[in-house]
Amino acid sequence: MPKLCLILGDQLSLSLSALQMLDKDSDHIMLAELYTESHYVKHNKLKIALIFSAMRHFAQQLREAGYHVEYYAYENTKDQFSSFTDAVKHQLTQHSYTQLICTEPGEYRVNKEMQSWHHDLALDILIEPDNRFFFSLTQMHSWFAERKVPRMEHFYQFARKQTGLLMEDNKPLGGRFNFDKENRHAWQANTPLPPTLEHQQDKITQEVLNLVEQEFSDFPGKLERFNFAVTRQQALAALAHFISHKLPQFGQFQDALSDKNNTLFHSLIASYINIGLLLPQEVCQAAIEAYQDEKAPLNAVEGFVRQILGWREYVRGLYWYAGESYKEKNALNATTPLPSWFWTSKTQMRCVSQAISHSLDDAYAHHIQRLMIIGNFSLLAGLDVKQVCDWYLAVYIDAFEWVELPNTLGMALYADDGLLASKPYAASANYINKMGDHCASCRYNPKLVTGAKACPFNALYWDFIQRHESKFAHNPRMALMVKQWQKKDVSDQKAIVQWATSLIEKLDQV
Ligand code: FAD
Ligand code: SF4
Repeated sequence: MPKLCLILGDQLSLSLSALQMLDKDSDHIMLAELYTESHYVKHNKLKIALIFSAMRHFAQQLREAGYHVEYYAYENTKDQFSSFTDAVKHQLTQHSYTQLICTEPGEYRVNKEMQSWHHDLALDILIEPDNRFFFSLTQMHSWFAERKVPRMEHFYQFARKQTGLLMEDNKPLGGRFNFDKENRHAWQANTPLPPTLEHQQDKITQEVLNLVEQEFSDFPGKLERFNFAVTRQQALAALAHFISHKLPQFGQFQDALSDKNNTLFHSLIASYINIGLLLPQEVCQAAIEAYQDEKAPLNAVEGFVRQILGWREYVRGLYWYAGESYKEKNALNATTPLPSWFWTSKTQMRCVSQAISHSLDDAYAHHIQRLMIIGNFSLLAGLDVKQVCDWYLAVYIDAFEWVELPNTLGMALYADDGLLASKPYAASANYINKMGDHCASCRYNPKLVTGAKACPFNALYWDFIQRHESKFAHNPRMALMVKQWQKKDVSDQKAIVQWATSLIEKLDQV
């Protein structure tokens, strides 16, 4: 009797562990587009289209490679199955199998469902570790468990030593692990921008786009902006495009903000890595080869490798180490409801409206927009942690809970009380003004703190410090800001708090 292998929509890699357990000639593979998976948050239409199209192309690739594939398309499953369990049970009525093989899923929600199959399904269940990361979950768990303060920078040094990436004779190339100091340039508006890569749309993608337009019409996203790789071949072309046209300046402008361009020198490949079209190892290798071939400087290559070998592995480890209750954390008691403009982008704050409109329409914002504009505003205004996290999970092309949650709840909102970050990423308008050119086109003045023309980030920043004064006074990286607040005249303090309170009361109009 054959075995059955279930592949999830973010497991589209031929090297996937579960696939290695199969006999091509006799075993079966199933993939299922499900109502529940596309509705657990209001996902961006572009993300649904990317995943469905990539799944359909992957099924085709598997068939061409000689596998027997059972494909459950959304049109046929939406009224029939409410979970993977339903779809698998249905497949079990079609054939007899000796074993169900899967690769471990990326999040608690699906993991619970898979674990229930051990007692709910009358066949042997094998759940293999996900082999598409540098480190296994067991290795990550040990690393976290052995440390009192498990910071990313320490993990990154450990990861460099373990993998040997960018290392020579056990020492970091260039004599340092981190070249961040070279990577904090503000945007220079006269910098020539890299070309855009256009991805061809075939019949499969066209059909998926029509389906998503029909079935998800009230979800965010503009399908006419769909320009994503849906096959491994296209994803490899996207990687090559990044290496040739963007990597050399990736480091320099990694933190920059531009009013005219939303992607700058960022790679735009997170979604491809997250769904399995690209592997993190080959992506880092491609960047390192560019350095070896003298096509990109070390600061850029190190900065890029750190994001993948460092941050990406670290947040996955933290997500599973911290446990399912991590998503309930709200250390700063942030409960203000999300203003309506999170779903329309209609705020007068230029930097925020630009970042949100791109997030909604294109399913993309780069890291600094996510962290220092939308995230920073949410932190300062004390926006409800769960609502903010759900928003991030919904809108971005690359959003999956294991990577979205630590980044949003931990990094942007400091809601885990400093498990991920040594200090909150809180900043006033000064930072945004320094790193880019949004403020020049804004109706607010980045230098003013109170009054109708004052940039809301400023009063909210000081009010945030004031609200959490006792907590931050003991944080060595925040104590200086607390002291600055304490040195202000009482009358100034009063005016700032009053102004910030009035802003929070009418956030919809800001
Ligand atoms: P680049 O800027 O070109 O970076 C290169 C690669 O490094 C990315 O493709 C990604 O694979 C990896 N990377 C960079 N930073 C991180 C990070 N902090 N954590 C994990 N991987 C990283 N990333 C996601 O993949 N999914 C998310 O849902 C997600 N949500 C985020 C929410 C917030 C509040 C913040 C601050 C960051 C979030 N990130 C998320 C991390 C990062 O912003 C995105 O990976 C990146 O912006 C994707 O664009 P890019 O491919 O052009 O990345
Ligand atoms: Fe953003 Fe304030 Fe600058 Fe306007 S003035 S763009 S709101 S930082």
